[in-house]
Amino acid sequence: MYEGVIQDLIDELGRLPGVGPKSAQRIAFFLLAADRADIQRLVTALTEVTEKVRFCTLCGNVAEEDLCRICRDPRRDVAALCVVEEPKDVAAIEKTREFRGRYHVLGGAISPIDGIGPDELRIRELMARLTDGTVTELILATDPNLEGEATAAFLARLVKPMGLRVTRPASGLPVGGDLEYADEVTLGRAFEGRRLLDV
Ligand SMILES: [Zn+2]
Repeated sequence: MYEGVIQDLIDELGRLPGVGPKSAQRIAFFLLAADRADIQRLVTALTEVTEKVRFCTLCGNVAEEDLCRICRDPRRDVAALCVVEEPKDVAAIEKTREFRGRYHVLGGAISPIDGIGPDELRIRELMARLTDGTVTELILATDPNLEGEATAAFLARLVKPMGLRVTRPASGLPVGGDLEYADEVTLGRAFEGRRLLDV
């Protein structure tokens, strides 16, 4: 629709989650009219994030060092491990201040339609973390939707022989949704009232 670089920008913006063609166009023209210094800060932030941010070698959360901030923190309870789909879920749970254990980020949920099976997720890494007996409670905080429930059920069955206390945040979370869309109070309460998963 537009010439060269402007269309390239619109196309790139349109690939971002939640940004449709109309929004992409609106953002592009906002950027074109914006102050050069503002744009430069955005460019710097994008460059820094691609250069500096990596994934924690232990839990898979975003990190600026080999280990993320949470895995490096000696005050965290090593006996409780909370399994989530994405790093953004770690951030959502941290905001509730209900959980003092550590995390394990799977990198998604089992979804046969999208071709995502257990091997595509960080499940082998999870099992490796459970072998030495340090973790006694495993909280399966995958999203409260079809894929998240299926993933939690799969993991619960997988770890059953290990005799861990396996829990799942209580209901009350918006069903079919994304963990991050739950407000802090609801998510905090769901964590507090987590129930035993029996498979
Ligand atoms: Zn970590």
